[in-house]
Amino acid sequence: MSDFEAIKQLDQFSEVCDWLAFKGWSEAEGGNLSLRIDKEDVPESLRSSESAATQLPLEVTAIADMYLLITGSGTRSRDISHTPEADLGLYKIAADGKSYQWIAGNDKPTSEMPSHCAIQNEFMVSRPDFRAVVHTHPVKLISLTHIPEFHDPKVLSDTILGLQSEARIQLPEGIGHLPFQVPGSLELGILSAEEIKYRNVILWHMHGALSVGTSLSHAFDQLEVVEKAADIFWTLKKAGYAVDGMRQQDLDQSMDYFGRTDRYKNAFSDKIERDKK
Ligand SMILES: [Zn+2]
Repeated sequence: MSDFEAIKQLDQFSEVCDWLAFKGWSEAEGGNLSLRIDKEDVPESLRSSESAATQLPLEVTAIADMYLLITGSGTRSRDISHTPEADLGLYKIAADGKSYQWIAGNDKPTSEMPSHCAIQNEFMVSRPDFRAVVHTHPVKLISLTHIPEFHDPKVLSDTILGLQSEARIQLPEGIGHLPFQVPGSLELGILSAEEIKYRNVILWHMHGALSVGTSLSHAFDQLEVVEKAADIFWTLKKAGYAVDGMRQQDLDQSMDYFGRTDRYKNAFSDKIERDKK
């Protein structure tokens, strides 16, 4: 086993990518993942690199000198689960935050590399216990973005997360929605980095979903929760029933019981403040 293959976090990628493929969420080469790993988890032989620096289109000084594992360009979830060492690359961000170096594994990172760097950088600024990014294409979540009223993230969150009694407990801050951006564009990454200050799951208009967490499994868990709630929405719609969801008093009681009332009530105050500007 090589030193790279010995990095324990490769197992997290295998497990989550296996599920992404099994769920049918990451068709073909769709989706990409990244994980920040601590220096202590990087074998000493892999802590520096002689490879040429690749410039980033943005500065990510908050993750200077840190290590990222990220999926390679054109890699498939169904393959990553079996051969993570061939499909994942280990990279180190430069001390000035302006470039990165490849260290080991796959040396052609996803075209979303700058977006992952922007989001990973925001983690260190505003929520340093977060380190995982999962982007994938769940059908029922993409379908929600085709409904105009759900372009308001408060309406989206209150409707969808009110359909199953544990969904809003898991995600009291709700879920976000970003208007259309070109797939893989830096704009999409920068807007996502802004949004993940407030929410753990974001829907990208007519594209897919982004989930962030303290581990890849945490990020995946949240996608499962939201996708199940969306499944209930579409099941009721197809059966011709109204989608009324939980009574407000039951939701309020649940938030109170789990101590999440403030997070729930203040969920979109950030948006309201931004809209005032
Ligand atoms: Zn995508």
